[in-house]
Amino acid sequence: MCGIIGIIDPDSSGAGSTSFGPAYQVYRGLMSLQHRGQDAAGILAYDSRLKRFVMEKDLGLVTQVFDQKTVERLTGHMAIGHTRYATAGTDGDRDVQPMITGVPFGFGMAHNGNILNYFSLVDELAAQYGRQMLTSNDLEVMMHYWGLYLLDGAATPNEKTFGFDNIKKAAARLFDTLVGGYAAVTLMADGGLIAFRDPQGIRPLGIGIKETSADNAYCVASETSAMHALGFTYLRDVAAGEVVHIDSAGNMQSAVVAKGKAAAPCMFEWVYFSGADSSIDKHPVYAVRLKLGERLAEKAQAKIKAGEMAPDVVMPVPDTSRPAAITIADTLKLPYREGMIKNRYVARSFILATQEMREAAVEQKLSPVLSEIEGRSIFLIDDSIVRGTTCRKIVDLLKKHGAKEVTLGITCPPIRYACYYGIDFPDPATLIAHERSIEEIEEYLGVEKLIYLDEEDLRIATGMSELCMACLNNKYPTAVTEGARFSKSRQRLRAVGGGKA
Ligand code: SF4
Repeated sequence: MCGIIGIIDPDSSGAGSTSFGPAYQVYRGLMSLQHRGQDAAGILAYDSRLKRFVMEKDLGLVTQVFDQKTVERLTGHMAIGHTRYATAGTDGDRDVQPMITGVPFGFGMAHNGNILNYFSLVDELAAQYGRQMLTSNDLEVMMHYWGLYLLDGAATPNEKTFGFDNIKKAAARLFDTLVGGYAAVTLMADGGLIAFRDPQGIRPLGIGIKETSADNAYCVASETSAMHALGFTYLRDVAAGEVVHIDSAGNMQSAVVAKGKAAAPCMFEWVYFSGADSSIDKHPVYAVRLKLGERLAEKAQAKIKAGEMAPDVVMPVPDTSRPAAITIADTLKLPYREGMIKNRYVARSFILATQEMREAAVEQKLSPVLSEIEGRSIFLIDDSIVRGTTCRKIVDLLKKHGAKEVTLGITCPPIRYACYYGIDFPDPATLIAHERSIEEIEEYLGVEKLIYLDEEDLRIATGMSELCMACLNNKYPTAVTEGARFSKSRQRLRAVGGGKA
């Protein structure tokens, strides 16, 4: 999973450092998207006066990669940015986004998601076009095809290929070629900003607008929180299979070019990934999390009545599950208590690369509030269990500090299968719920009882009948014939690590 953002402002002075400069705004937007990826960050701007791309990117957090001087160099009236959480390719610096090319014409791109048929496409690009990959990032494959398809629509190799008819045709061909879940932003040299979202809308992408004195400025981003932070007004989401073009004068054109496929946005965006201050496909994340809490409270109520649990307090695992825990405490008329304080300067444990890193991070990041734990029967609420590492450590922590009992409530069904669309659980064997019964998971985690939501609860809470829930039910919205190869490669690359190219 990653965060992407693109801004085009025809009236901008183009100065990178001013509060109105697109690169500076992208920098600020990336800070709102930092939770989507902490491996690396990058910004690419295009300066039409100088006819050149300028880019800064590196491994690390946004504030580690950029300072005032680096942002000042990023001049131009349009810019795109990326926060990376490596779920394909290596963790090394050669795979950091955005990426640029000068052939067959200048453009740069950043994406969020995974291309599942990456290896076949690499083979095809080599066999048919003699192309050699320079990175392990699936974005590079996407860029090769994007360039090829746009060029195909040109009458001569020198013709400008950025007319919207040609863009639509190229996007339709790209959607047919790529298998996976992805959303992308691209800067075309003197051709404006283009954004698109996969045919089933698995990965999120929204558009915001800012009315300026002359032409409108636009922001395209993974989450609405980034556009709100920059003063853009949310306009709409990019639809599944849609391509959007905003030219250098601020004129926007769009079309859905991949039709006939059922939408399947990722349920995990609402459950865990997106910020609570964002809205995905018009469904506010915070409100959905409150409703997930209502559904879990209903299930807990039945167990309390049946004498299967008797909690004294409701306690969230900070921070994602807090809205659900508040609703559960209200509904069950139990006190809400914070039993762990989160150290904000330790990375989210789930998106760290190795088990060892994750375990060390859990211990460092959650500090127990002893007065709220000792002697209590705790109804502990978490958003999801992936590998079980974090959960087991937290339960250990609570019991070590005197908790009488721990009942665990999860605002998601059991995650049992791989995700091939940009969330980092490619190997089902590492998932705690894979081929284990609820009793076995309870025993592993050391909890007295475990309550999960079910798929219908997710549909009701999100208000969406069509969702990707493949990691729950093994029903993938795309072909997954290359899934095993993808998973194996992912594990190998993670083990090797990145390093300097
Ligand atoms: S498989 Fe799961 S995590 Fe992956 S896109 Fe689908 S719902 Fe999201």
